Amino acid sequence: MKPSEELAYVIGVVCGDGYVKMKRRVRKGYNDVWIGLKAKDKEFVEEFARCLAKVLGRRPIRPRYVKSSGRYVVEAESKTLYELLKKPVDLERLKKYIEHCERCMAAFLRGFADSEGSVNKRGYIFILNTDLRLLTYMLRSFLGDLA
Ligand SMILES: [Zn+2]
Repeated sequence: MKPSEELAYVIGVVCGDGYVKMKRRVRKGYNDVWIGLKAKDKEFVEEFARCLAKVLGRRPIRPRYVKSSGRYVVEAESKTLYELLKKPVDLERLKKYIEHCERCMAAFLRGFADSEGSVNKRGYIFILNTDLRLLTYMLRSFLGDLA
């Protein structure tokens, strides 16, 4: 994997709402591994799909709409991304992609905020995540000495 804004965005999303999963196969020693995102916001899922396709060097992946849950879903099979992003995420391994350059850092933050963030009426940005380690890392990286 080469560092890129698209990869940083994908990492940011998977640190939030995105997921990686393994589907066991009957055949021994063979597993399908997937990376994906389910969300109500169509544009968000489309952006994730675009970045995912670019990172994997594949043709554009079209999100599908799941009527029963009212969500858009995009999934792609990738062992490399699965290994990189399986949870709990290994921040030490991800650093070189996230902190590659300012554009990558911004893309990571955008991906994370797109999935976990919300803005209230007064313009404050909230990011909710249950992984304290991850939040601490975000604050240190992006606010520096202010955090
Ligand atoms: Zn970069």
